[in-house]
Amino acid sequence: MKKIIISIDGHSACGKSTLAKALANELNYGYIDTGAMYRAVTFYFLENRVNIQKTAEMEKALKRINITFKSTVGGNRTYLNGKDVEDVIRKMFVSKNVSHVAAISPVRKMVVKQQIEMGKLKGIVMEGRDIGTVVFPKAELKIFLTADEDVRTNRRYDELIKRGQKVSIKSIKENLRERDHIDSTRKDSPLRKASEAVLIDNSNITPKEQLAMVLALSIERIRTLSIADKKLVATKPKPEPQKNTRPTASKRTNQPAPQNQRAPQKKTPQNQPNKKSAVQDTKPTPQKKSNQPIAKSQNSAQQSFLKIQSDEKPAERKTKITPKQKAKQPAKKVVQQKTKPTPAAKKKPNKPAPKVQKNEQKKVTPKPIGETSTEAKAKKVRTKRTNKK
Ligand code: C5P
Repeated sequence: MKKIIISIDGHSACGKSTLAKALANELNYGYIDTGAMYRAVTFYFLENRVNIQKTAEMEKALKRINITFKSTVGGNRTYLNGKDVEDVIRKMFVSKNVSHVAAISPVRKMVVKQQIEMGKLKGIVMEGRDIGTVVFPKAELKIFLTADEDVRTNRRYDELIKRGQKVSIKSIKENLRERDHIDSTRKDSPLRKASEAVLIDNSNITPKEQLAMVLALSIERIRTLSIADKKLVATKPKPEPQKNTRPTASKRTNQPAPQNQRAPQKKTPQNQPNKKSAVQDTKPTPQKKSNQPIAKSQNSAQQSFLKIQSDEKPAERKTKITPKQKAKQPAKKVVQQKTKPTPAAKKKPNKPAPKVQKNEQKKVTPKPIGETSTEAKAKKVRTKRTNKK
């Protein structure tokens, strides 16, 4: 199955991470939180008292920064130069500075370079602010998330309280507002929706519903692109078989692995009632064109997804037919074709059947038991003679 890049951009605290993580999990894809990278850089600058006004000093510091991620049972963790900084980069003192640091071009250049490297192999869900516009402008599926400011504030408040931070609703609201303003007005890679991105306002939908929508879109996109790829392969001219070259053992073993390996079949989310208004602006996708509720579309998308997998079966089966079976099959076909009554034969049943049918009938017509045809003729003649007498 084709691997794609899915970008999830959007405003601060609009549930990008929740969606991206869950989607990556469903598709068995990698997940990258690019906000964590800018947060890690900001933390490094603050901890090492790097003066961001002095370009040379800042660029020198950037060269000493190495950001990595580790996937653990409890979720993804961010490492800065080998040290786990996942919790500290979520604190308010980092949140208050991160958008200023993220607006600096050399910082973005360094971070984006790493992000491009991380997505090189595809099969990735990347969330941030500029993924669909700058980092992966050719991402196969782009999502742009948003939600009401109050909804986002409350969500972030709950999240930070759960992490054990002492924060006020007011300070969170101010921080979100300020970050969104800086992010969307900066010169380098401002936060904006890519024209072809699907806009989802998740103010009134649950994370589960949101996941179901985006999962359906992703599956449909993967399916469409996989079909397009298959067609491309089918139209490629086959190389002429070389004469007088019997395949050697090495040639046979060097053959490429079968293309029809099955993608791991993922569990599907529960069908949730859809609130259509959440998806506000999409490039026409099969789901959008039909007026079916998303849960239904999702099912059909999944069915199609499964169908592609099963489409590959006949080819596999063909190779398993034994020579004996092969020999039988064509013969069967011929008999069926020959014995099929033609319209003319149907109208006039007494008319002699066509030659081929005669032969078939001959084979099956039973001979009279206990009396040969010559004996019968002789009998007839004898009775005629006695009658004459
Ligand atoms: O996603 P999160 O809220 O953790 O991001 C923190 C900050 O990092 C954002 O407010 C933004 O300033 C910056 N950022 C960015 N580009 C990205 C991701 C995050 O500028 N792709």
